[in-house]
This record gives sequence, C-alpha cells and structure tokens, in this order.
Amino acid sequence: MSVMSDAPIDLRSDTVTRPTLAMRRAMADAEVGDDVLDGDPTARRLEAMVAERLGTEAALFFPTGTMANQAAIGLHTRPGTEVLLDADSHIVQWEMAGTAALAGVQVRTVRPSGRVMSAADLAPYTRVTSIQAAEISLVCAENTHNGAGGVVTSLDDLRALQAVARAANLPLHLDGARLWNAAAATGTSLAEFAGCANTVMVSFSKGLGAPVGAALAGSTADIARAMRIRKRLGGGMRQSGILAAAAIYALEHHLDRLPDDHAAAKRLAQAVDGIGGATVVPPDTNIVMIDLPTASAEAVSARARAMGLRVSAWTPTRVRAVLHLDAPPALVVLAGAILARALEETLLS
Ligand SMILES: *Cc1c(COP(=O)(O)O)cnc(C)c1O
Repeated sequence: MSVMSDAPIDLRSDTVTRPTLAMRRAMADAEVGDDVLDGDPTARRLEAMVAERLGTEAALFFPTGTMANQAAIGLHTRPGTEVLLDADSHIVQWEMAGTAALAGVQVRTVRPSGRVMSAADLAPYTRVTSIQAAEISLVCAENTHNGAGGVVTSLDDLRALQAVARAANLPLHLDGARLWNAAAATGTSLAEFAGCANTVMVSFSKGLGAPVGAALAGSTADIARAMRIRKRLGGGMRQSGILAAAAIYALEHHLDRLPDDHAAAKRLAQAVDGIGGATVVPPDTNIVMIDLPTASAEAVSARARAMGLRVSAWTPTRVRAVLHLDAPPALVVLAGAILARALEETLLS
C-alpha cells in the first residue's frame, strides 16, 4: 500500500499511485550528479537499463511522456509537414496541440475502422497524390492505446503498420507509455515491439508507479538529437538521479506485477457488465471502459464517489476505471460492488 493513502479507492487513472516507502528510500539513496553539466550516474544507469530492455542503441530520461513524445515529433519532422496518427491518440487529445505549437506540424488523424488504427486504415493516408498536398513526415502509433481502453496492438499488427510506414519512406514513433502492459498481456517482448519503431516512448509514472518520468529510446543518432531538443523544451534536469532512482526501482520491483492489474481489470469488468444495460468489452490490460445506455457517466461517477470509489466520466456515455498497484485485490472486489450499485441506482431508477 501507498504512503498516506486515506483517500477513497481511486481508479481514475494508473497515474494516482504514490511512491512506496521502499521507492522513496531508493530515491533518497541515489547517487547523483549534474546531468546537464557532465551527467548524472543514476540517470545514465536508468537509460542503459531501458535501452537494454527495449533492444535499442540508446535511451534518454525525460520528466514526462508528453515531453518525450513532443521531442520525438520534433526530431522526425520539419515544420509545415504532416504527422499521421490514430484520431484518438494521446498526442492528439492530451498534449495541448504541441505538434502545432512546438514542432509546427499538422496532424492528419486516421479514423480507425476497429478499436485502434490498423495498417489498412493507415495505408490510404500515406499516398500524397498532389503537389498541393502537405508532405508527410511521420507516423505515430500508440500501444497500449489509452483512449480506446488499454487496447493492445499485437506484434503482427504493429509490424504491418511499420511496413506501411516504410513503404512510404516514413519513420514510425511509438507512444508506448504502457508498452509494459502490452508486453505483459501478450508475452511479446518489449524489444520485439520496440523493433517496429524508430523511436519509442515508455512511461514510468503509469502502472509502474514512479512519481514522474518517461524515456525515449532509439538509435544513438536520434537520441543525441533528442537530447538537444529536450534541453530546448526545458527538460534538462540537474540531479535527475533522484527521479531516475524511482524509475529503476519501478522496473526492478513493479514490472512483474502488471499481470495482477490485468486480472483485476477482468474481475472488475465481470462485476459490472450488463448491470442496468451497461456493457463492458473484456479489457486487454488494466483499463476498463464501461459503456452506458444513456448519457449518465457523470451521475454514475458521482454516485460511486459518494460510496468511496473514484472513477472517470470518460465521455457522457462512458465510465473509465484503471487498475494499478495501489488497488490491491480486496479493494478491487469492493470497487466492483460499489460500481455495480452506482450503475444500478443510476440506470434502473
Ligand atoms: C500518460 C500518457 C502520456 C503522457 O505521459 P505524461 O508523463 O503524463 O506526460 C503519453 N501517452 C500516453 C498513451 C499516455 O497514457
């Protein structure tokens, strides 16, 4: 359990986890240096661990996943070009139009025919048929896909996306904030997934439970340029080893428990599916999306909150619950009962 957790059961996101005592101790004990001047030894160690696990030449520690994604976009594109990506991507929905404001690129969103963008969905967009159309510079994929509900893109499907990008001479950036979950759910290795992309972002502050942090992994040349962009974005961190130590601790102690979150998500989905006409697609990973027959997500979330459970009203007809390491099995059983009651009271009254 977390330090100082007297709050209700909070399943709004896997970002709400608090650093454990052991993680805080690892942070306190971290060996540090000035990472902007001549390097922080603990940040270097984390970057080497990430590069090794993802099978890339290099990796770079970032304060946030958003900054790492935006650095990747800056790295692969030129102003006045276009990025192709799933319409419901984190980069489109939750990064403050950084593509336009920082890199000067336009997003061309691909509407997926299924739950997430496939190679067949992407292919028609890669053909530039007119000299009056913008040049395309990059394809981005997201795995697992947050907005779609923690949906996994399989290795075969990711390879197919890579093939479409390659055929059009385009680099592929993978927003893998929850790539850890995709690997845990499928048995595909992180390196196999990462091998499909030119650059990969992974986050430490979601299911891994670190307070902040992400990494961008890729070739030595790309990561050297990403370092310069990171500095420009204000992401040059001095004694960053304090934060990197939390991420190292998370990789060493919290990665192996992600299947527990996936099992808990399935149990929560079963506990509420069908109640009052709500439907739940069985979750691939740790995110549960509950679709309601009426626009009552705010009401369901307010009722659940009054009973001690926090969930998100993701859209007017969709409630989201995310499982994580601060929601142990006994609490998940309770959460399922509370959410079922909130659905019943809202939808059947
Ligand atoms: C959370 C998230 C990010 C951004 O990470 P921050 O560290 O919160 O900036 C990017 N992509 C996806 C898919 C995410 O879920």
